Amino acid sequence: MVRLFIYLFKLDIHRLKTAAEIFQAAMKRFNMHGTPCPECKTKRHFSSHDKYVHHLVDYYNNKVQEGSVEIKIIRCKSCKRKNTYAVLPDLFVPHKSYSILYIMLVLRAVMLRTESVAAVCRRYGVAVSTYYRWKKRYCTYKSLNLGALEKYFYEKDPHLLKPVHICFTNFLYKFYKRYGFSFLQHSKTAESRSP
Ligand SMILES: [Zn+2]
Repeated sequence: MVRLFIYLFKLDIHRLKTAAEIFQAAMKRFNMHGTPCPECKTKRHFSSHDKYVHHLVDYYNNKVQEGSVEIKIIRCKSCKRKNTYAVLPDLFVPHKSYSILYIMLVLRAVMLRTESVAAVCRRYGVAVSTYYRWKKRYCTYKSLNLGALEKYFYEKDPHLLKPVHICFTNFLYKFYKRYGFSFLQHSKTAESRSP
């Protein structure tokens, strides 16, 4: 997979209302020929190979909205095995319909305590068990970044207070570089280290 780091593109996120708009704006900035192949590290050897439809669940105009985006598959001509890669902006979780922003909006809504867990889950169309799974994964992954003596305070998490700000910092980029998988992407090893 080739990941695109949104903060590098300096997108005008506040003008992009939906996850699909953010996705498309990021894909417009993607320069296939300037991107190194994850395997052989060379540039200028990618060509378009295929695409597939990816289902997206989003929340805007005060309701859950379903949509889809087209994920581009590119192929490296330089790799011996002619590897193919899906291209995915970092706000999107591989193989999942919910973006990182969506997950953070749900966590934030409960954290602010204006509604119960059940009411928030109903509004966002997710199962209560999904909410708890997301929360656990979120806390675990946030804690991975801390030293042994530091403690993570969920209620003071600056990203949860203003989810969209995650697009302006290098947090997602640094997380991926450090662990080799994306923030909130399922990882058995990482999740066994729950705090
Ligand atoms: Zn290659």
